[in-house]
Amino acid sequence: QSYIPHNSVEYTNTEFNLAFKRGVIGRHSCSYALKVEEQQLGELKLTRSQRFSKEDLHTLESLLCCLIYPLRNATLFHQALQMAYTDPLTQTHNRAAFNDMLDREIKRANRFDKPLSLIFVDIDHFKTVNDNFGHACGDMVLATVAGRIKETVRGIDIVFRFGGEEFVILLIDTHAEEAIVIAERVRKSIESQTLAYGMEILNMSASLGVSALCSQDDMHSFIKRADAAMYKAKRLGRNRVCAE
Ligand code: GH3
Ligand code: MG
Ligand code: MG
Repeated sequence: QSYIPHNSVEYTNTEFNLAFKRGVIGRHSCSYALKVEEQQLGELKLTRSQRFSKEDLHTLESLLCCLIYPLRNATLFHQALQMAYTDPLTQTHNRAAFNDMLDREIKRANRFDKPLSLIFVDIDHFKTVNDNFGHACGDMVLATVAGRIKETVRGIDIVFRFGGEEFVILLIDTHAEEAIVIAERVRKSIESQTLAYGMEILNMSASLGVSALCSQDDMHSFIKRADAAMYKAKRLGRNRVCAE
């Protein structure tokens, strides 16, 4: 701002899913596609009400040359963090992310007296898919089920792969009754999906357990109730939702 006065600045990097905007857009603009050693680093755009002079652009370009390497390091760090928290097969958050986020959300829910719910999803008879059609097919089922879950839940709900063929959905600001409705929607969505694998048509189902945060809960008791509800769904015949 002190070298090149401007009204707005915008930085977008679609590859890293970053978007930053500040200020009110002016009539004149200049924008730069940033790239270093074959790596795209997004686009930077400045706007203001007066034209950018040649000297302004020259100064800006010198500044951009100083920015480019720190920016590359920052975006790579951001990407590394994302990868550390993502399950590559299902593109959901992983167990490490779950532990971090659950701890934070429990604290937040208690502090602001907000509801919080969990849904445990366990694919039914998944081992027989692996046994009958092989691991590659099992992996496809996992990715498909994850896709159905992500499509069905709301944007604010967070989906994690808890382990093997188990997923968890964390529902912020959500009471048990609403969580049961969402769980039922997820169950139906998985049930209605068919998967073509070579000449085979596979049907899938899952058992779901719901728990809502109580005042005396810690992370473990909260998880344990959702897990127990899921096992109850299994005992009652699978492909259903239970709550504890
Ligand atoms: P239930 O209906 O009682 O849940 O039975 P299930 O067969 O789904 O459950 P079980 O716990 O017996 O089997 C889970 C299987 O999931 C066993 C394990 O080999 C498989 N599995 C775990 N992770 C992966 C993975 O990443 N890919 C594949 N293909 N299989 C996996
Ligand atoms: Mg299981
Ligand atoms: Mg299972």
